Amino acid sequence: MATASAIVKPPASGRPNLLGLDRAGMEAFFVDMGEQRFRASQLIKWIHQQGVIDFDAMSNVSKALRERLRQHACVTPLEIVFDEISRDGTRKWVLELADGNQIETVYIPETDRGTLCVSSQVGCALDCSFCSTGRRGFNRNLSSAEIISQVWIASQLLREEKKPGRTITNVVMMGMGEPLLNFDNMVTAVRIMMDDFAYGLSKRRVTVSTAGVVPAMDRLGDVLDSRLAVSLHATNDELRNELVPINKKYPLKELIAACHRFSEKQSARTRITFEYVMLDGVNDSPQQAHTLVRLLKGLPVMMNLIPFNPFAGSGYTTSSSERIEAFAKIIIAADMTTVVRRTRGDDIDAACGQLVGKVADKSRRARRFAEPRFGMTS
Ligand code: SAH
Repeated sequence: MATASAIVKPPASGRPNLLGLDRAGMEAFFVDMGEQRFRASQLIKWIHQQGVIDFDAMSNVSKALRERLRQHACVTPLEIVFDEISRDGTRKWVLELADGNQIETVYIPETDRGTLCVSSQVGCALDCSFCSTGRRGFNRNLSSAEIISQVWIASQLLREEKKPGRTITNVVMMGMGEPLLNFDNMVTAVRIMMDDFAYGLSKRRVTVSTAGVVPAMDRLGDVLDSRLAVSLHATNDELRNELVPINKKYPLKELIAACHRFSEKQSARTRITFEYVMLDGVNDSPQQAHTLVRLLKGLPVMMNLIPFNPFAGSGYTTSSSERIEAFAKIIIAADMTTVVRRTRGDDIDAACGQLVGKVADKSRRARRFAEPRFGMTS
């Protein structure tokens, strides 16, 4: 059985990579070939449940069809260039794309779940001032195959660990990039994550995170029943324009209105996660906590306070734990469910907003800064 350990670079053949097809896409592929629709579920199970990428090992597929598949398609995951497990069990992969760009994926184990943090783009165009991914500029969108390949590789390799509890129970689209600016490929990949013939994750266990691309939030609510996370980080437009520049295009009032619309569309009113990075002396005052409570009033909210993960040249420092605690106290007193995230995997450079991969450098600004570290917070 071919597994993630035996991956080769994708052929430059232009054959479709079946890894990135959701059920509808796979059915269309087989119908186009003059084959029957049910082949789609067979292939999806082989690839995503069994981890099989060699057509010849797909024993319930006829020899003739296997030969046709070899000619007309491929199943090619990304290449693993770095794979390390942190002291706290966090595991990080750096994966190389066919064009030489690199992206990162992080597995974060907790007592009751295992969360995979998945990238959607090479770099990011949004240029949030406290995020090292943005500092490195934007290169390109990931294909659906490149997005789901991260889940494929992680689930194969976690299975190979043969340790109880090391499975993917949740996925957060919180790696490199802005998932809502790679809408179609991201939605296709999330559909594969949620397909019972693939990873079978329930809609409550897949979270799409956005810095606030308002029109795409509306589209997301129309096509997907996933959970939503919003990177808020500030409670007034002046500060948010500085921290999350897309706020100039979609200011807070529009963002919060979009959150209300999203929440109303959902079949069950699941909470929207609001991420708030704690920057010392910038957005962490008690007064800002009170404003936050007013801003989110009436929404089903889960607040995530993220201690800032510093990187060279960022110009910010992390709020002290006393200041984070005082901030949290105010919003908890207003009945807001609140989690203060712990930094995870920092010994292997795996914390939030520090994922940089290796981006072919397109931003002028990036050259002014020293090489950032990368990492992930849970
Ligand atoms: N573009 C999407 C997905 C990225 S998610 C979004 O903005 O939501 C990554 C999360 O980590 C975001 O909430 C982001 O704001 C946060 N983050 C970025 N840099 C960080 C840093 N240096 N320390 C802590 N959190 C950071």
